[in-house]
Amino acid sequence: MLYPKMRDNLTHPVFKIISQVAEQEGVQVLVIGGYVRDQLLHRPSKDIDIVVLGNGIELAQKVAAVIHPSLSVSVFKNYGTAMFRYGTDEIEFVGARRESYNRNSRKPVVENGTLEEDQLRRDFTINAMAICLNQAAYGELVDPFNGIADLENKVIRTPMDADLTFSDDPLRMIRAIRFATQLGFHIADNTFQAIIRNRERIGIISKERITDELHKIILSAKPSTGFLLLDQSGLLELIFPELSRMKGVERKGKHAHKDNFLHSLKVLDNICPFTDKLWLRWAALVHDIGKPATKRFIPDTGWTFHGHEFIGSKMIPQLFLSLKLPMNEPMKYVQKLVTLHLRPIVLAEDTVTDSAIRRLLFEAGDDTDDLMALCDADITSNNADKVYRYRKNFELVRRKLQEIEEKDAIRNFQPPISGTEIIETFGLKPGREIGIIKNAIKDAILDGIIPNEYQAARDFMMQKAAEAGLKQTL
Ligand code: ATP
Repeated sequence: MLYPKMRDNLTHPVFKIISQVAEQEGVQVLVIGGYVRDQLLHRPSKDIDIVVLGNGIELAQKVAAVIHPSLSVSVFKNYGTAMFRYGTDEIEFVGARRESYNRNSRKPVVENGTLEEDQLRRDFTINAMAICLNQAAYGELVDPFNGIADLENKVIRTPMDADLTFSDDPLRMIRAIRFATQLGFHIADNTFQAIIRNRERIGIISKERITDELHKIILSAKPSTGFLLLDQSGLLELIFPELSRMKGVERKGKHAHKDNFLHSLKVLDNICPFTDKLWLRWAALVHDIGKPATKRFIPDTGWTFHGHEFIGSKMIPQLFLSLKLPMNEPMKYVQKLVTLHLRPIVLAEDTVTDSAIRRLLFEAGDDTDDLMALCDADITSNNADKVYRYRKNFELVRRKLQEIEEKDAIRNFQPPISGTEIIETFGLKPGREIGIIKNAIKDAILDGIIPNEYQAARDFMMQKAAEAGLKQTL
């Protein structure tokens, strides 16, 4: 089928060069997959996949040599692929292939194949379209599974039997959900039913590949779509049981608590317009992760989740470990936001004292703005009065945070008196006492008893030492 607009989609300068080299070499060559899909959807894409009916590595080397004699080509012999960069874009070449799978592995046996076989091995019809680059058919769309109609109707569907597609490579189940989320598409019913039937197969996929897809869902404009589909398909409880456990509403008499799963998704959606930071979005998703473990019913009062921020923050390392998420800075950052996520709300409910604001600034440090964004997103009440009251108090908290920060510079607080100075002043040995003195100084500053300045801190220390009978030796 000739789709008239296709030529216009081949604006990237590399296509003309590939076309010329393919002509000289007498091989058939096409651009295929995600790039074609994204061009048709007018989405930006950086990776260009080129399929060659012949030797992909050889063609890549010849094209690269025409672009620039010293352009380096990365060759992956085992996979029969080669890649070079053209500006910031990655151009990858591969010979057309056929794949067959064995039940216990996601790794297929790969053999040379026809174009049709290559298209058939692709996950979804919208990802299986190709555009010819040979001169005689330049710009012609090769679309054996009518991906273009699915694109227009916004449908995710597999080219082959869906059960076989998902059983062969179960990661495709999460990819289907990821594409549905990113593109706002619907998963065809028979495709979705096959995901439900094959969900247990996800067990053969590595955690890293799964979380890679979760990141893409989380970074989309409305991540809740993806998590709801993961839940409906039965995949969520297999890949992220801690989140799945937050589902449901329990009622006793007139007391019912909210569905913490749906609430978490709402908070995540709420924060998206304000940030593209992956880990802040993760924090929004898991900020209430400690709720199931702390849920209690108190007669006459109702449901409480007392201490869920502490229990939740304690759960974060294990959660990150089990999802194979990075255990260094991102984990500590998410843990910190989970620990602190109630503090601005408590502040907004109480009278906002300078001392409480200083403490918050001290503990949240550079992440104070992110914490405030999380707390804003956390206001999901249906009660308009309550929302109005919270937002107004938050304004006040924000203003106070700024005022105190300008005055006292607490955000990256460094104690004005060092441990060494304490040791030398009183002739002490390193030990617990030093920490106690340092803490007393820190508390005095945070409580506003003394300003955040060296001399004031030194005077305070001497006064406290005298009261405790410590003698200066220096
Ligand atoms: P994105 O760049 O957003 O991840 P993409 O479709 O370009 O989307 P890639 O992972 O780069 O994703 O894959 C490129 C193409 O390779 C896809 O469009 C699809 O044709 C094919 N493909 C990728 N992964 C699979 C898979 N697991 N099963 C079948 N085909 C796949």
